[in-house]
Amino acid sequence: MQVSAIIAAGGRGVRLGRPEPKQLLAVAGRPILERSVSAFLGHPEIGEVVVALPRELVDAPPPYLQAPGARLRLVAGGARRQDSVANAFARIDEAAEIIVVHDAARPFASAALISRTIAAAAEWGAAVAALPARDTVKCVTSVEAPFVRETLPREAIYLAQTPQAFRRAVLAEALAVAAEATDEAMLAEQAGHRVRIVDGERSNIKITTPEDLAAAEALARAAQEPAAAARTGRAGIGYDLHRLVEGRPLVLGGVAIPFEKGLLGHSDADVVCHAIADALLGAAGAGDIGRHFPDSDPRWKGASSLALLEQVARIVGGCGLAVGSVDATIVAERPTLAPHVAAMRANVARAIGMGVDRISIKGKTNEGVGELGRGEAIAVHAIAFLTPV
Ligand code: MG
Repeated sequence: MQVSAIIAAGGRGVRLGRPEPKQLLAVAGRPILERSVSAFLGHPEIGEVVVALPRELVDAPPPYLQAPGARLRLVAGGARRQDSVANAFARIDEAAEIIVVHDAARPFASAALISRTIAAAAEWGAAVAALPARDTVKCVTSVEAPFVRETLPREAIYLAQTPQAFRRAVLAEALAVAAEATDEAMLAEQAGHRVRIVDGERSNIKITTPEDLAAAEALARAAQEPAAAARTGRAGIGYDLHRLVEGRPLVLGGVAIPFEKGLLGHSDADVVCHAIADALLGAAGAGDIGRHFPDSDPRWKGASSLALLEQVARIVGGCGLAVGSVDATIVAERPTLAPHVAAMRANVARAIGMGVDRISIKGKTNEGVGELGRGEAIAVHAIAFLTPV
């Protein structure tokens, strides 16, 4: 099934109060028209895109429309929207079976929405993206002095968007209707065709007023931010193990836990703090704790590893990074750690200087297997996620 698209960009957008045509304005760094055209040009089901533009833009198109090939064509728009669409329709590939019409002023139509509309047009002949009305709808006596004449049943009201899609013959008949219309679906109705409603999208807004432009900017930025954070965020992994021996206190995450044995080491041997410190240093690309806090340094003999963690947080901050989250798993056959987890998380959060809700610590046994399972040692795996400040 061959599908073509028409982008209606013939208007000048006087309501935005800007000298340049509104479709050339940028939203989060990309022009509205470029966003709309690429949504269709990049869609796997669409073979060609014909853009109806003001005459002066056809003569001097913006750079992103300057490589027209077989898949992208520019035509001059007409006086009314339907004239622009008719001019574009006259240039559509003769083999096209379905034609999708879209407003350039709606730059956020998703690929899924375009596919839904195409599929419905193939089945029903004509289809329009639309949203069910959320507000109660009042019909008024006159525009000049409005009084409510009637309240319409909201369930039966849909607000039309684009894309709208048609079988070729249906659009040809619609455009032959000699009436004024605000969209092609209305012309198709007047030509006697049934038009199927397709679920629209709340984010598929039409940019008409300065308020719309601000809303579009916020939408586009929100869509970019998670992707940008994932690109620039950094993850690090840490691991540590200490032997359990008699005659030493057991300190995990800064909590002294009553037990018959404790961990052997130069400092307090807090394996939780050590693994988290290594995860943080790893994410920052700043080496490991062996390099920053060597066993040969007498300052760290018997020292609290929470103080070491504080130092590490300062190193990470010095790299221009903030701690997004930390997760650690303690592998210990005994003792039971669950009663101490909350205190460990609070200690670690305080040392790093972050919210306790973004620190996770979990206990696990080794099911009696190997050295850890026999209670000869305790090991910790940790991961840290850092973001640029
Ligand atoms: Mg260690």
